[in-house]
Amino acid sequence: MDSLAPGDIVFNYADSHIRAISEVLSPARRASKPYKNLAANTWGEAGREVSLRMHPLDSPLHLKEIPLELRKAWKQKGSPFNKNGGINQAYLLELPTEAGCWIMDHLGLATTPNNVPIDPAPAKDSDENEELFIIVGPDGQVTTAHRPEHARLKSFLFGQRPVNGCALCGKELPTSLLVASHIKKRSHCDSHERGDLHIVMAACALGCDAVYERGYITVDTHGLVQQGPRAPETHHLQSYINDLVGRQVTAHTPRTAKYFEWHRDWHRQQLTRSSQR
Ligand SMILES: [Zn+2]
Repeated sequence: MDSLAPGDIVFNYADSHIRAISEVLSPARRASKPYKNLAANTWGEAGREVSLRMHPLDSPLHLKEIPLELRKAWKQKGSPFNKNGGINQAYLLELPTEAGCWIMDHLGLATTPNNVPIDPAPAKDSDENEELFIIVGPDGQVTTAHRPEHARLKSFLFGQRPVNGCALCGKELPTSLLVASHIKKRSHCDSHERGDLHIVMAACALGCDAVYERGYITVDTHGLVQQGPRAPETHHLQSYINDLVGRQVTAHTPRTAKYFEWHRDWHRQQLTRSSQR
């Protein structure tokens, strides 16, 4: 833990999946055990801690999706992978650079310095939609930056208007309760799509953004909301979805139709993939 430095990347792994990516914000410092109910003889009182900014992944990455040769290539003591490409149980281990770069590239987070206009660090009060970028230089050096085009997309959708409509439920809401929601997942967009203003729609933070993003609803070729491939776990969620199904989505236009199509196909494939596991 002492070798962590601000800007380093930590992959958060649990239950066979990488579930989040975190950015180290501070070097390690001395700290006492944060959880008082842990068995006293299992963990000592004194330890160390680092601050992280965690970015949960929409779709956790299964260990087996990481190529076996990359997992087996690292046989040094202290590797997160064992000689069969499985996992060594521990709390913090150094990931080989090649595997780290592969994972970031696979998740659509890695990019090269040349095609990323880096924003200045976001202001403290504007980090509600902040998204991490990981930049891999030609020498393999890794740095972090923040989503560059967000402000432009927001101003395209909302302008200076204090009130706007949600493209999915149609409710008029204060702009602070609406988000610029990617119709096609941003991590799957190429650089041209990322620059396309029509890649986003206004969706409310009261629920529409989340149910669309997670595939509980999709939008069909006529621009109508349909029940998505992801099954709602509770009847309250189903009832939220029922209120949306059949609505005409104002953001569905000839320019956005292909992005809605991508969203339908991707969530359908996710469902197939998870049922094969
Ligand atoms: Zn809504």
